[in-house]
Amino acid sequence: MSDATRYPINWPASLMFLLTTLPVVFALPWYLWTHDVSAAAWGWAVLLLAANGMSITAGYHRLWAHRAYKAHPIVKWFFAIFGGMAVQNSILYWATGHRNHHRHVDDRDEDPYAATRGFWYSHMGWMLRDYPSSQLDFKRVPDLLDDKVVMFQDKHYHWFAFAPNLIIPIGLGLLYGDIWGFVLVAGFLRLVVSHHFTFFINSLAHIWGRRPYTTTNTARDNDFLAFFTWGEGYHNYHHIFQYDYRNGIRWWQWDPTKWLIAGLARVGLTRDLKRVPEVKIQQARVTRELERTHAALQARPHTRSVAEIKEQMDAEWDHFKDTVAQWADVQSARFDAAREQIKSQWENSDIKHKIDALQVEQAFREQLTRLQAMQRQLALA
Ligand SMILES: [Zn+2]
Ligand SMILES: [Zn+2]
Repeated sequence: MSDATRYPINWPASLMFLLTTLPVVFALPWYLWTHDVSAAAWGWAVLLLAANGMSITAGYHRLWAHRAYKAHPIVKWFFAIFGGMAVQNSILYWATGHRNHHRHVDDRDEDPYAATRGFWYSHMGWMLRDYPSSQLDFKRVPDLLDDKVVMFQDKHYHWFAFAPNLIIPIGLGLLYGDIWGFVLVAGFLRLVVSHHFTFFINSLAHIWGRRPYTTTNTARDNDFLAFFTWGEGYHNYHHIFQYDYRNGIRWWQWDPTKWLIAGLARVGLTRDLKRVPEVKIQQARVTRELERTHAALQARPHTRSVAEIKEQMDAEWDHFKDTVAQWADVQSARFDAAREQIKSQWENSDIKHKIDALQVEQAFREQLTRLQAMQRQLALA
């Protein structure tokens, strides 16, 4: 008997996956072969996919699980309805479980979807049986218990899951005169695709990709996955700085969830968007590059040119310690100024703090460039 079979099957979830997947695997191919599905059905499928996907990423994930910003009730209700339609359990269950994922990431017994237990387990397997790691303690999430939208949606979750999935595809199908096209494409196919796009974040985004910020957990940055997961593919960044409302922090990184949250802020529907200061991001990157260069040095035979790079490397460690100390000074100076509480002084010190922070950030950036150059040199040495 394998480890998994010790735990009872989670029948509601297993049946739900079975009953939504079977029509996509069997009925849909036959239907597409023998009938024409209207362009409207495909168009609405994509629209609903975006509404469901981003209600999970912007709502369930960044708003409720991580409190990365605050949202107007209209926005919360939208996320509660279209996130419920994504059939991934209630906000309360999803967000509480996700906080456990971050707190115990990769722990085989505590992380509900530990990637260390393999692709299948982290993708879907964890939902098919009642594993102890999925037991939730709601005493740890008082903020969610206090949220009226969260509690209403949890109490009536089955309505949130069933009603829009029945009413919207059938209603639109009647309107456009293509009931079965809408039910199969904008109903079943849309739901199954939406499921797997989310599940990829727990499975593939912990297996496949680069780790520019930290190797303390399995999370990866992956541009390809970011495209399918509404920006959540920058998962290495997310696991180190989980309270940032952004996952893709550079302007060129595909993160429509971030654009949605920032766009809503412009019209006053979201506020208090949390961002990690750039200097901290640069510090994490330098730390990672120091480790990487160190490992590359260890792996090289001891030639003269390698010895020279090793000397440079010692200087880089010292330089890094100095920059970190400089940053600590900048912060304590700012803290002192804030304590003085004299408005004009505070404003002056705030500007000074910004300039000082920029200098530290610049020092980290320059070090990053040097370390990357050293790694290229090492590869040739
Ligand atoms: Zn993760
Ligand atoms: Zn998260």
